[in-house]
Amino acid sequence: MSDNLLEVKNLKMYFPITKGIILQRHVGDVKAVDGISFNIKHGETLGLVGESGCGKSTTGRAILQLYHPTGGNVLFNGEDLTLMKGEALRHQRRQMQMIFQDPYASLNPRLTVGNIVGEPLEVHKIGNAKERRERVQELLKVVGLNPYFVNRYPHEFSGGQRQRIGVARALAVNPEFIVADEPISALDVSIQAQIVNLLEELQAQLGLTYLFIAHDLSMVRHISDRIAVMYLGHLVELTDHETLYSNPLHPYTQALLSAVPIPDPYIEDTRQRIVLEGDVPSPTNPPKGCNFCTRCARAMDICFETDPEWKDMGTAEEEHWVACHLY
Ligand code: SF4
Repeated sequence: MSDNLLEVKNLKMYFPITKGIILQRHVGDVKAVDGISFNIKHGETLGLVGESGCGKSTTGRAILQLYHPTGGNVLFNGEDLTLMKGEALRHQRRQMQMIFQDPYASLNPRLTVGNIVGEPLEVHKIGNAKERRERVQELLKVVGLNPYFVNRYPHEFSGGQRQRIGVARALAVNPEFIVADEPISALDVSIQAQIVNLLEELQAQLGLTYLFIAHDLSMVRHISDRIAVMYLGHLVELTDHETLYSNPLHPYTQALLSAVPIPDPYIEDTRQRIVLEGDVPSPTNPPKGCNFCTRCARAMDICFETDPEWKDMGTAEEEHWVACHLY
């Protein structure tokens, strides 16, 4: 068996822009994800980081085939999900679940916790009513909630408890792989660590593999084995978390890291912040050459002409992928 649970190859997700109500002429595309490749090993957590609108959530959804990718391949346990349909795809989807960003919006307020957590069991026709209820109670216990809460409604819970309900729902069908789409961004800072700890404990107990999406590097630091940095639909850097924090290569990663506060007050006082000038260009009309060239302080002539190659600058032991003409 391969080490990789997931292999993403040259994944593209374009959303067409049309003009005209009747003829719907195709006049362009929003290139939300534009040819990215990476692997995730069994039991690993890959952090995927970038500013809002860079394509990271679209990547998660395209992997799970919630969007049908415009191009590229997504191999899960060696099988290409982009070629599957119907029952075969439904069967694979059972192994892949998602935890959503906003625990307030992602839980149906009219359903009880029992119905919310038990819904995937019903969809996949697992067990009878009594077995499903027992499974829901067991799941609530696993995520640290009182199993007698099954008849309560989402509004009766705090943000952290609601996210635990979201985690229980994702675990209901025993998945191997979970896309956690900014699962802690909407939570109080004091609660964020509890959810990260819960996800880590579940990973250790159940052997889960995660794609953990976040908009800043401080959120993925502790949970990720490797981290991929994304900018305007492209991956710009990918390596193990220690190397990324100690030796970031790409100017965009360096800027993101310079914004992460350092817990030591003496070092924090000397932290040099790299402020990025300008806005992120539109994904409908990305710049020619390197897509970071409009904001990069180190841009050279070649950067405005040629898209940099995705190169491994690492060692025999550790990969360190980067897309930048400086290397
Ligand atoms: Fe900056 Fe050029 Fe590297 Fe792009 S390729 S990040 S513009 S130096």
